[in-house]
Amino acid sequence: MLHFRLLGTAAGGGFPQWNCACATCASSRAEPGRVSPRLQLQAAVWSSPDAIFLLNASADLRFQIEENLELRPRTDRGNRNTPIEGVVLTTADLDQVLGMLLLRKFQPLKVYATALVRRVLESNSFIRMLERVPNQLTWVEIEPGVSFQLGGSGIACTPFDMGGELPFYAREFGRNVPEQVSQGLLLEKDGMRIAYTPMVPAITDSLRSIYAGCGAIFVDGTFWSNEELSKAHTGTPMAQDIGHVPMSGKDGTIALLSDLPTIQKIFVHLNNTNPVLDPRSSAYNAVVEAGWKIGEDGWELGQ
Ligand SMILES: [Zn+2]
Repeated sequence: MLHFRLLGTAAGGGFPQWNCACATCASSRAEPGRVSPRLQLQAAVWSSPDAIFLLNASADLRFQIEENLELRPRTDRGNRNTPIEGVVLTTADLDQVLGMLLLRKFQPLKVYATALVRRVLESNSFIRMLERVPNQLTWVEIEPGVSFQLGGSGIACTPFDMGGELPFYAREFGRNVPEQVSQGLLLEKDGMRIAYTPMVPAITDSLRSIYAGCGAIFVDGTFWSNEELSKAHTGTPMAQDIGHVPMSGKDGTIALLSDLPTIQKIFVHLNNTNPVLDPRSSAYNAVVEAGWKIGEDGWELGQ
C-alpha cells in the first residue's frame, strides 16, 4: 500500500509568517482554532514504515518528524536510528532544501536529485556537514522522464519537467539544463497514481495529461488570485510573474482543470496571504464547491 502524508502545507515562511500582519496571518494569531497555523510544505511517502521517503526537506522538518509517529526513531533499534531512508529533491528552492541541514548527525541518507540541483547544493559549504564521512549522503541522479524506485519500496517515481527558474541565490548556475531546474513527481504503486506538483508556473497540455491519469493530484495553491500578493504588500509581483498559476480566475487552476475526470484534487503550498486559509471565506467555499480540497498538515491520502 502507498502511504502519502502531508506534514506541512504552507508556502515558504509558514503560516502565520514571522514578519507578516496581513489579514489571514492576523486572524490565525487571534483565532488559531479557526484559522489553523501551518508548517511549511513537506510530504512523506512509504510502503513500509521501515523506509520512509521525504519529498523535499522543509525548514520545519524537525517539528514534522516529532509530530508524526512513523517518522520518529524507534526505541527498540538502538540509540541512533531513523525510518527516513531518503529524500527526493525536486528543486533547489531554499524553502524545499533547508531541512537537509537538519538531517546531519552522521545519518546515512539517499538523496535523489537532478545533477543541477546537486551541483547547486554542493556549491554551498553548509552541505559539507552532510558529507563528513563516506556514504553519509548517497546521491542518486534523477532525470525528467526517467522512472526510478524509491529504495526497495516498490514505489515508482517519475520526475517530469515543470519549467520555472533557478532560485535567486543560484542564478549563476545558468540555464543550460532548464529541464533539471524543477520537477513534478508521479508516484505509483499497486495501481495508485499520484502527481505531486507544488510549484506550477503553467498548466500545459502535458501536465493536464499527467493529471488526467492520476487518482490524486497535489497542486500549487500558493495564491488565490494573481494580484493577491501585490495587494497585501505594495511593490510585490503578480503570482504568475513568480511562477505560480493562481487558483481563481478564468486562467486559474480551478477553471483550467474543471474538466478533469473525478479524481482527488488537493491544493498545497498555501501562501500566508491566501484567503482560503480561513474556512469562513468565500474563497474557501468556492474551492470546496469546485470539488477541490485544501491540504491540511497531517492529512494522509485515503484516510
Ligand atoms: Zn500574512
